[in-house]
Formats: sequence, C-alpha cells, structure tokens
Amino acid sequence: MKAFSYERAATPAEAAAAAARMPGAKFIAGGTNLLDLMKLGIEAPAHLIDVNGIGLDRIEPTPDGGLRIGAMVRNTDLAADARIRADYGVLSRALLAGASGQLRNMATTGGNLLQRTRCPYFYDTDQPCNKRQPGAGCAAMGGFTRHHAVIGGSDACIATHPSDMAVAMRVLDAKVETVRPDGTARVIPIAELHRLPGDTPHIETSLTPGELITAVTLPRPVGGMQGYRKVRDRASYAFALVSVATIVQRDGSGRVAFGGVAHKPWRVEAAEAEMPRGAKAVTEAALAGARPTHENAFKIALAQRTLGAALAQARG
Ligand SMILES: Cc1cc2nc3c(=O)[nH]c(=O)nc-3n(C[C@H](O)[C@H](O)[C@H](O)COP(=O)(O)OP(=O)(O)OC[C@H]3O[C@@H](n4cnc5c(N)ncnc54)[C@H](O)[C@@H]3O)c2cc1C
Ligand code: SF4
Repeated sequence: MKAFSYERAATPAEAAAAAARMPGAKFIAGGTNLLDLMKLGIEAPAHLIDVNGIGLDRIEPTPDGGLRIGAMVRNTDLAADARIRADYGVLSRALLAGASGQLRNMATTGGNLLQRTRCPYFYDTDQPCNKRQPGAGCAAMGGFTRHHAVIGGSDACIATHPSDMAVAMRVLDAKVETVRPDGTARVIPIAELHRLPGDTPHIETSLTPGELITAVTLPRPVGGMQGYRKVRDRASYAFALVSVATIVQRDGSGRVAFGGVAHKPWRVEAAEAEMPRGAKAVTEAALAGARPTHENAFKIALAQRTLGAALAQARG
C-alpha cells in the first residue's frame, strides 16, 4: 500500500477545511470499501481525513415532517431505527439486504452512497478498465458480464452501482446535503448524485473534489406498502443481480426503482404510470432501450418477475 498521512476531523467544517488544504485527500468513514481499494492500489490517496468523529451520527425530524439522517449514521442503526421501520420500510429492508451484519455495523450512510462498483475487472489491476485508468479500455466488453448493466451503459463502461440503500433512497426521493471545501453547502436530489458512465466512467457522482456529504434527508412519509426484493447468486453476502424497491398505494399507483441493472439506481418516473397495468408494462417502460449482453439479457425478465412478485405481495 502507498504511504499516506492521516488526520481526524472534529467537525464538518474542519473536514471541509482539511479537504481544501490537501487536494486529492479522501474522507474515510467506515472504511469497508476504501481500505480494500487502497490495499489493491486502486485508490491511492496521499492523505486521509477521518470523519468518524464529526458528530453527524443522529437521525432527526425535519420541519416538513421528514427525517434528516447524518452521514455517519451506521447502516445497522439506520435499518433498526423505529421511525425508519415504521414510515420508510423500503429503506430498512434494502439496508438489511446488503452486505453482512459486521459490515453494516461499520458502513455509513455517506460511504454507502459513494461505494464503488463491484465489476471484477475494476478490482483486477492486471485488466484494462476505463473507470480505474481513463482511456485504458474495458475488459468487461467481450468478457464475463453476468453482473453488468443492461441499461444506461456506454462503449466505455457497463458497470453497475452496487448499493442497495441507494435504490431505496431513490424511490423515496431523498436529498443529499453536502459541504464543499470552500465551506459552501448545497442540496443534491438523489437522482442527480450518481452519473451514467458516458465517456468518463471514472467520474461517478456530481460531487466536486473534496465535497463532504453531511446528511441525507427523506421527505415526509408517503405511506403505501413498501418493499425491497433482491435477487442474487447466493442468499446472503452477495450483490444484487437485480433488485426492486417498491411503494404501492391502495389505488394501485406507486413508485419503482431497480438496482443491479445500471450505473446508478434506475428509476423512470414516467414508467410508474403503468403500475395499474402490472409488472410487465412497468418494466418494459422502465427498461426501454436496454442493451444487454448475451450473458445478462436474463436480467430483463428477472426484473419483470421480481417486480411482479413484489406487486402481488403488496396487493395481497
Ligand atoms: C464483502 C462485502 C459485501 C458487501 N455487500 C454489499 C451488498 O450486498 N449491498 C451493498 O449495498 N453494499 C455491500 N457492500 C458494500 C458496503 O455497503 C460499503 O462498503 C459501505 O456501505 C461503504 O461505507 P463506508 O462507510 O465503509 O465507506 P468508506 O469505505 O469509508 O468510504 C467509501 C467512499 O465514500 C467516501 N466517503 C465516505 N464518507 C463520506 C462522506 N461523508 N462524504 C464524502 N465522501 C465520503 C470515501 O472517501 C470513499 O471514497 C459490501 C462490502 C463488502 C466488503
Ligand atoms: S465495465 Fe467499467 S468498471 Fe468494468 S472493466 Fe469496464 S470500464 Fe472498468
């Protein structure tokens, strides 16, 4: 591992100031993704800013009836929170479908959103990867693509975003609060946080260098039957082949977001108008224009069947 310097920030302002002082520094939260990437040499920050002590570890009500989740709230604590379980069940279920108990005890809300893809070629430094090294090529093209994206990909990259939590946050219309190195704060709708790969798959989010996530806010509860279904190659400790986050209302309307199919949580609001017509109509509209490979074309039928099961359960 490349040598690096390390400091602990005590407040968000201190963390932002450290990022301004040390261009190229990385924040470290739970470390469950960043440390693995550093050990493999895929990430090599010269400086780490530890944000575990900056006090953003509370879940608080917002004036409009929603919740503000501090960026350092651990995945375990978020999933277990009584308000989340009662009013945002899709989020609790998505969190519990991810990783393992030990990992969730460390993983944070901010770090989970910013975890990097699980494309095996990205992790294999002997293989060309445009995300790891811009312009190097993409070993997944023509390679093993069972887990890769079926929609939203580009000729440069067909990786998927691995987070379960982010799919639930997308269906809930969460907003991400940040502070930049110059101290200015901003709010980013979750739909605009993650980017599609295009020609620049190494640029994964709309955050600017050194921008710190301070919180995620959830709007006031929308009710409905909420569910998260995840299909994977083994029952636990595996990333989604396909996942579906659903909110179904009594009148048959609702919301749907898919995981495991694209470079970001995939939600097409216009497709939700098809909810009364059933899973096939919604999936066809949401995944219109999909470009699967011969190895992952099954994901389209799988997405439809997974949504079908979720809708049947909600309506039952
Ligand atoms: C074996 C294994 C299985 C897993 N399975 C799943 C799974 O099934 N589903 C799933 O969703 N996830 C899974 N994960 C991933 C896990 O959820 C993530 O590693 C974790 O959520 C990352 O959070 P962290 O706090 O540890 O982030 P870190 O590793 O500390 O950081 C990740 C990235 O976020 C940045 N960062 C962290 N906090 C902030 C902040 N506040 N502001 C700005 N940048 C920040 C860091 O600089 C880094 O780039 C798995 C991981 C492992 C190792
Ligand atoms: S799909 Fe993306 S992450 Fe995977 S090898 Fe190709 S460029 Fe790299």
